[in-house]
Amino acid sequence: MIEDLKALLAGFFTTLRHMGRKKITLMYPEQKRQPAAKFKGRHQLHKYDNGLERCIGCHLCAAACPSQAIYVGAEENDPKAPISFGERYAKHFEINMIRCIFCGFCEEACPVEAIRLGPEYELSDYQRHAFVYTKDMLLDPEKHAPRRQFHADVEQHRGPIGGKPEGEAAVSGAPKGHCDTPTGARTPRKQDL
Ligand code: SF4
Ligand code: SF4
Repeated sequence: MIEDLKALLAGFFTTLRHMGRKKITLMYPEQKRQPAAKFKGRHQLHKYDNGLERCIGCHLCAAACPSQAIYVGAEENDPKAPISFGERYAKHFEINMIRCIFCGFCEEACPVEAIRLGPEYELSDYQRHAFVYTKDMLLDPEKHAPRRQFHADVEQHRGPIGGKPEGEAAVSGAPKGHCDTPTGARTPRKQDL
């Protein structure tokens, strides 16, 4: 009997202790919590300030992906109108988000910081095919991604992405001539692999 009374009082005391504290419950989805800085959510592809795409179609992200969720279809750049600063660019870039386990290996493998995982975590949809994110959806989600897959109130910049095209580690050891064109694109050439 005494033990029961003690337990009851301890319960009341715990309730009283928390009554004066600030509420931590958020009224989701109207209110959203910003995830931690290192949170790995929805991917984005990035461009340089001059508008060139960072991705050089090297496939390293696809090779590093343990879920085989990434498909990269690369093509040679036209030196007169290059899309990226490298020899090639990603004509097709897709991520199957149903396969993705958000490990971040693709981000780690990318030599030019073209792909990054951001803070976005609300990635619901109704159709399986809607989870195959295309290059447009990854480059400009606000414009191309379905409304269920992009939420500007969660999306935020994760600090600066370093490097200029000609200074990238991926090409800094490249033969002279890589930066011959104003945009930094190398003249495409056939190579025996
Ligand atoms: S986060 Fe991991 S699983 Fe997802 S696409 Fe990148 S490497 Fe693949
Ligand atoms: S995102 Fe990075 S690693 Fe993947 S193909 Fe493009 S440049 Fe290569």
